[in-house]
Amino acid sequence: MLRDSFGRVATDLRVSLTDKCNLRCSYCMPPEGLEWLPNAQLLTADEIVRLVTIGVERLGIHEVRYTGGEPLLRRELVDIVGRTTALEPRPQVSLTTNGIGLARVAAPLAAAGLDRVNVSLDTLDRDTFKRLAHRDRFPDVIAGLAAAHEAGLRPVKVNSVLMREVNQHEAVPLLRFCLEQGYELRFIEQMPLDAQHGWSRDTMVTADEILKLLSASFDLAADDLEERGSAPAERFLVDGGPGRVGVIGSVTRPFCGACDRVRLTADGQIRNCLFATEESDLKTAMRAGATDDELAERWITAVSRKKAGHGIDDPAFLQPSRPMSAIGG
Ligand code: SAM
Repeated sequence: MLRDSFGRVATDLRVSLTDKCNLRCSYCMPPEGLEWLPNAQLLTADEIVRLVTIGVERLGIHEVRYTGGEPLLRRELVDIVGRTTALEPRPQVSLTTNGIGLARVAAPLAAAGLDRVNVSLDTLDRDTFKRLAHRDRFPDVIAGLAAAHEAGLRPVKVNSVLMREVNQHEAVPLLRFCLEQGYELRFIEQMPLDAQHGWSRDTMVTADEILKLLSASFDLAADDLEERGSAPAERFLVDGGPGRVGVIGSVTRPFCGACDRVRLTADGQIRNCLFATEESDLKTAMRAGATDDELAERWITAVSRKKAGHGIDDPAFLQPSRPMSAIGG
């Protein structure tokens, strides 16, 4: 088991398949993009599957989420998903994506056994999308969402990050759109993980503000509080249900005490927290011939050192050197 010194057990593995992305969302990276990892440093599909297999078969991982960067940019994605859903015990397998290209691969992904998708969408306005993501791809995302729903990758979840004077005013339209389409919307507080270090505690839109904005138009009732467990989103029934909305208050309502996540970066580093400043290098060990037992042992040690919390509110907080796109969100 992957147990840390505070008794938390990691069962949910987030795997970044690439650090590259075809959008440039301003809360994540600068318009000119970043220096991408050289291909030789990326784990191969076989290496990814080997590590995921160790996690599932030996270390108690029962949920695997593929992310990035943009995971749909990885050509072997359908193959990787198929090999993951064939593992015993079979883990839940999901994908976090910006949706560009999903219209083409939603059906093959569903056929490979993918259970669910989370699609990021911060605005319903094409011009705002272009300004925020620096690419004119809004119609592709909408088409990707529809294709995922059609392919049965349900519930399709939508992730939105609100920013002041950019898309904050879209909280209500975004929820209305998701309710109409049968998608489950989750607002995520903006976190200090952008490459350009532009995040500020003073200007971020907080969970309290989001709930206030929504409450002006909808009746929100706290949903299954006792079942929340390790889920980061606080969920609310909207207008009596069945529609729901989630709010992930990573900064102002941290849920570190219930965290069950561990991350594997595209270059084979285990991170025990999004905000960790240390990593454990499984790729180098693997390429130097480490056995599955040795890799499992390194992984166990990495998780055992997980800190009690991310400490964003601590004056001594240090933003990790890797931005979100290179960690895997
Ligand atoms: N490219 C994929 C996507 O867009 O979903 C997967 C990777 S992306 C890093 C995963 C999620 O992280 C997205 O929902 C994105 O909105 C979110 N994200 C990125 N930077 C963030 C930040 N600074 N604060 C909060 N969420 C962020």
